[in-house]
Amino acid sequence: MVKSCYVHVPFCSSICAYCDFQRAGYSEVLCDKWLDALEKEIQYKCMPSDLTTMYIGGGTPSCLQLHQLKRLLMMLSAYVSQVEEFTMEMNPESCTDEVCTLVSSFGVNRVSLGVQSFEPRLLKLMNRHHDEMTIKNAVSNLHRSGIYNISVDAMYSLPTQTMSEWISTLEKCVLLGVTHLSMYSLTIEPGSAFARQKMEPLDADTEADMYEKAISFLEENGFKQYEISSFCKPGYESKHNTAYWHYDDFIGLGLGASGKENHVRYDHPFGFQNYLNDPTQIDIIELSKEDEMFEMVMMGLRLKQGMSLSLFKERFHCDLDDVYHDVLDNCVSKGWLMIEKDKVKATERGFEILNTVLEQFLI
Ligand code: SF4
Repeated sequence: MVKSCYVHVPFCSSICAYCDFQRAGYSEVLCDKWLDALEKEIQYKCMPSDLTTMYIGGGTPSCLQLHQLKRLLMMLSAYVSQVEEFTMEMNPESCTDEVCTLVSSFGVNRVSLGVQSFEPRLLKLMNRHHDEMTIKNAVSNLHRSGIYNISVDAMYSLPTQTMSEWISTLEKCVLLGVTHLSMYSLTIEPGSAFARQKMEPLDADTEADMYEKAISFLEENGFKQYEISSFCKPGYESKHNTAYWHYDDFIGLGLGASGKENHVRYDHPFGFQNYLNDPTQIDIIELSKEDEMFEMVMMGLRLKQGMSLSLFKERFHCDLDDVYHDVLDNCVSKGWLMIEKDKVKATERGFEILNTVLEQFLI
């Protein structure tokens, strides 16, 4: 049974230089039309009422006007009565007192805040419109509304970023008193402003160095790494994202969202007009058993604790070793993977070269 739902809000108040997600500059009229379409999609979908995680992402959900945000939350309210973790993404500048109070009153109990950096010059380069004070105010507003489970996103390997700027951003994130941190290295996406400006991320060695230093710094400061790019205070792992890493099914609602249910992955055809004309129209990809086995391994090995062997067997009616015997043997003998009780997991070395390890499973 599907227990998680992702809702994509495809609007942002401005467009970040590194972004090529499905999103548009916020417009009140377009947003109203999008809400009408989303309402139709939800009605058509026959949503379960026993979801355990709900995630509103984007885009920037907090850039909607208050009455529009309220309408969105009301549409979802019938499906969140059993939700344990209800996350919404926000940008610091739109994380106002009013927005925090509103979302908290509808049961949002976790916020993912797009901090990215504390450095004014890097924020400017990324076309982000907040500063240190905005970030601190956002966190205070969240705390005042009763939301203490706060995740921050931070980016590294930004053009010209220095190691001391990166560590300083992490220090400031820790001092905010947040419970979770996700860090991402810059990739230059073809449709982004950075690609048009011919920007380059830092070289691979510096990037790897930044990653390593971040791990030690965060662990020294009480954040344990539980996934390749996720860190948390004890007990604050993201339940919604963990469902992805366990390769559970999830519902995807809204233009720009993908879902996976009953061996099918789906998303909406590209473009606003298509979605507004018919929000129930989806493109589907049927997943073969081989696709699903590979994807489960690929997702599960991202977790520090690894992938459950018994869950694999329960889903596919065969042992992991029956399917990937030679690969497992090879990766274990190279010291990249280990098998411990019910788990197959990456060793420290395997985690450092996870992409190479995962490539071995592409048989
Ligand atoms: S990175 Fe996020 S906030 Fe920035 S433009 Fe893309 S979707 Fe919007």
